[in-house]
Amino acid sequence: MISLGIESTAHTFGCGIIDDKGKIYANVTDAYKTESGGIHPSEAKQHHEEVKDKVIEDALNQANLKLKDIDLVSFSQGPGLAPCLLVGLKKAKELAKKINVPIVGVNHCIAHLEIGKLMTKAKDPVLLYPSGANTQVIAYEGGKYRVFGETLDMGVGNFIDSFARHIGLGFPGGPKIEKIALNGKNYVEIPYVVKGMDVSFSGILTNLKQKYDSKKYNTEDLAFSLQETVFAMLVEVSERAMAHCGKKELVLGGGVACNRRLQQMCRIMCEERNAKFFVQPNEVLVDNGLMIAWLGILQRKQGTKNYDSIDIKPYERTDDVLVTWK
Ligand code: AMP
Ligand code: MG
Repeated sequence: MISLGIESTAHTFGCGIIDDKGKIYANVTDAYKTESGGIHPSEAKQHHEEVKDKVIEDALNQANLKLKDIDLVSFSQGPGLAPCLLVGLKKAKELAKKINVPIVGVNHCIAHLEIGKLMTKAKDPVLLYPSGANTQVIAYEGGKYRVFGETLDMGVGNFIDSFARHIGLGFPGGPKIEKIALNGKNYVEIPYVVKGMDVSFSGILTNLKQKYDSKKYNTEDLAFSLQETVFAMLVEVSERAMAHCGKKELVLGGGVACNRRLQQMCRIMCEERNAKFFVQPNEVLVDNGLMIAWLGILQRKQGTKNYDSIDIKPYERTDDVLVTWK
């Protein structure tokens, strides 16, 4: 069985193709970027409208397949920006109807976790999922993927992007901050905000902006201190989730997981507690269609040809989904 998956929750329109053995055929993405300023939902939607046909065509070409070879169409149902999600839904329905195959809507956060398991062969990991809009620590317990810790306000990626925007860098700011941080030498004290198992970034953002505006600090030192502080928060909560669940594996997923310093800090923590740490290639860490296609395979029993019964779920939470495929 071959599944074609469509991702469109936020800035990225992606199409991936995979079969039920986990054989990867294609993974093509096109992401909305800006020179300055952040992500604007209606502009991101416009971007998706413009690139969607080309992305899908490129994926089929990369896979050396025709649309009629596809047995299942899967799409990101949520969580995400409604205008962006609707582009994916519409396109998925159109394709599925055309070739008369079932359609299945899947949860974006769980897709990050399941592709992580497929790519790394981790069996029962804790997932640290730091992305633009989301920041969660997730693990499987009692029939669901449970959220053991999460952000109380913005996703860590949005937080980094907001600071980057404040200092005049465009979107996405994460890779730029990572580069600048390499030249930071002095740690500047900024708030460290862990509340129970949750994290919060809005106060840190205000503090960093004030420090930058005061012109008393070196920008590279601020970028360095930002990374050291908020990544330590994420690692702390992940470690506590691993200890609590008795799990011995950590998988990273989400765009901020591309950051080498975060990967290094996770690796050190895992080594110290004799756990295994897995990093995936960047193209599956960021939002992509391959993970959607794969979760579609896992949830194929829920596929339907009753196309009108399918809608987006912009606010769906990880722990709303009953895991029926394990
Ligand atoms: P996602 O929403 O999972 O596609 O991730 C997008 C987010 O990842 C954006 O906020 C980016 O700024 C962030 N990001 C991408 N690469 C890096 C990096 N190397 N370091 C930190 N953040 C990054
Ligand atoms: Mg994501």
